[in-house]
Amino acid sequence: MIIVLGVLVAFVLVLLLANRRTRACRWRRRALVNGRAEWRCVACGAEAQTDSPAPPRDCLAPGQTRG
Ligand SMILES: [Zn+2]
Repeated sequence: MIIVLGVLVAFVLVLLLANRRTRACRWRRRALVNGRAEWRCVACGAEAQTDSPAPPRDCLAPGQTRG
């Protein structure tokens, strides 16, 4: 039983850490080109394009997407 609890706690911790890591990304819209939005993450410098007005959800910087 203790082992099951430990696994559950570890799983929740991993989820929290993953959320915190992506939440640290702060996307700023640089430009609108042909209906596509260009974004830049001021936290890690990643750049991305989206078809919608909403910013990307995930950080695209190298080293942040491992795992
Ligand atoms: Zn980022």
